[in-house]
Amino acid sequence: MLKVTVGLFMTTQNLFSNLGRNKIFKNRSVLVSDFIPLSLPHRESEITRLAQILGSALSGTRPNNAFMYGLTGTGKTAVVRYVSNMLSEEAKNRGSPVGLAYVNARKDDTSYRVLTQIGKQLNLQLPFTGLSVAEVYFRIVEHIEKFRGIIIISIDEIDNLVKDASGNLLYKLTRINSDLRNSQVSLIGITNDSRVLESLDPRVKSSLGEEELVFGPYDSDQLKDILYARCTDAFFEGILEDDVIPYVAALAAKDHGDARKAVDLLRKAGEVAERTSANKVSTEHVRKALTEIEVDTALEIVTKLPLHSKLILGSITDLYQKKQTVVTGDVVAQYALLCKRIGLEVLTSRRVSEIINELDMVGVITTRILNRGRFGRTKKIVLNLEPENIWKAIKKDELLSAI
Ligand code: ADP
Ligand code: MG
Repeated sequence: MLKVTVGLFMTTQNLFSNLGRNKIFKNRSVLVSDFIPLSLPHRESEITRLAQILGSALSGTRPNNAFMYGLTGTGKTAVVRYVSNMLSEEAKNRGSPVGLAYVNARKDDTSYRVLTQIGKQLNLQLPFTGLSVAEVYFRIVEHIEKFRGIIIISIDEIDNLVKDASGNLLYKLTRINSDLRNSQVSLIGITNDSRVLESLDPRVKSSLGEEELVFGPYDSDQLKDILYARCTDAFFEGILEDDVIPYVAALAAKDHGDARKAVDLLRKAGEVAERTSANKVSTEHVRKALTEIEVDTALEIVTKLPLHSKLILGSITDLYQKKQTVVTGDVVAQYALLCKRIGLEVLTSRRVSEIINELDMVGVITTRILNRGRFGRTKKIVLNLEPENIWKAIKKDELLSAI
């Protein structure tokens, strides 16, 4: 007995010997999405163009407004931030009065928050609540006026401001120069959704569209260059097997050439390798990482579903765990039961069918028409996610935490 214990003791590694020792990442933060790399391959011409537009600020001339668009992950945010940082540095060196503010309207999604964020970046303290939008706007104008220079305001993911009443804010901002005498403002609007250009107030549209920069998707060779450039700072030398970057680039190129997806996937693959104590990152780790990302995205979709869609998905999941084949009719019945249990009015069967189609469209389930002879046709439903994961996501909803 004693012998065995001693033996075990001698051969077992210390629990902590490998913990916190990183063999894969030299610097993982290089691969998180808001990191701005020192070089942006294949965006040289966009960078030069934006620099030419904004450069006039250094000599006291108001740059034209600009509108930048292109699909997600095409480097718009990176380019704007990169050029802004350089401009700000150069302005400091020359002592030119150039101020820059950057807001992301998805994060700061009301007029009030956009304005306070702009104020904050221009070193103007504003309370988080309590003032009217008009008052905040007035204080910003006053502050900018005192600055006596050129202010460049970039509004990223501007589509989030177009949808609601804040469209008014965009209009006000495009007219801000008429409220100023000693300073001038230039605006840069950025969006992942080129259709917003059409939904903008025509006056805003023509004002922002003084210059237009279109960001095309990257192809797989370009993604390769981007990843090679970033991986030298991110990973220790020789950690990536040779086929990893070409593989990640090819996958991301299929997905409309999204550099964010590529960078995320490479980071995740490194994390999977690290977690499994591998010495190198291989395409196998990339495949595992891809599955994890897909599951995460799908679960995020589930948490954002409306209440009844969650109930219907919950019913499908419940049935799925109990039997082989799940069909629409059973789902309708199960869903009605659930509604009764929590005291909710049921939606019509027709609406339930529509929601089932919607769940199929977002990829959480797959449906197939099943011909049942004289019983007519019905839909067979298959879950695309692990039931436990679905429950976890559904139960995040306070109303449904107890089911
Ligand atoms: P967008 O704003 O167009 O959605 P981002 O600028 O946020 O795209 O880019 C997504 C990710 O890809 C970021 O991590 C960014 O640093 C990276 N990225 C995009 N383009 C390049 C590039 N040319 N070189 C290096 N990294 C890039
Ligand atoms: Mg962006």
